Amino acid sequence: MNALPACPHCASDNTYPDGDLYICADCGYEWPQSGSADQDADALPIVKDANGQPLSDGDSVVLIKDLKVKGTSTTLKVGTKIKGIRLVGGDHAVDCKTEAGSFLLKAEFLKKA
Ligand SMILES: [Zn+2]
Repeated sequence: MNALPACPHCASDNTYPDGDLYICADCGYEWPQSGSADQDADALPIVKDANGQPLSDGDSVVLIKDLKVKGTSTTLKVGTKIKGIRLVGGDHAVDCKTEAGSFLLKAEFLKKA
């Protein structure tokens, strides 16, 4: 994250970004952001499968390797097809419902079907 600039009006550093503006919480002064590089900081990161194809909610995927499910005796077999995935973000970004239950899997072990 970039450090927020101090207010050019009252020199307070109690400032925050709002859309294309910075706003000073102390005096209410507003001024435009210039050259801001993290406009998309709030957007969900794109989740890509093993081939670099972007995945979206409701896609069907196929496992590209056997996955042992942590804390269980279940192994999800390579080639297992999973319908209607849901993207949840984070390290294990893909919520997959299978016959064996519902698991959070890494997109890198999946291939869009
Ligand atoms: Zn100010």
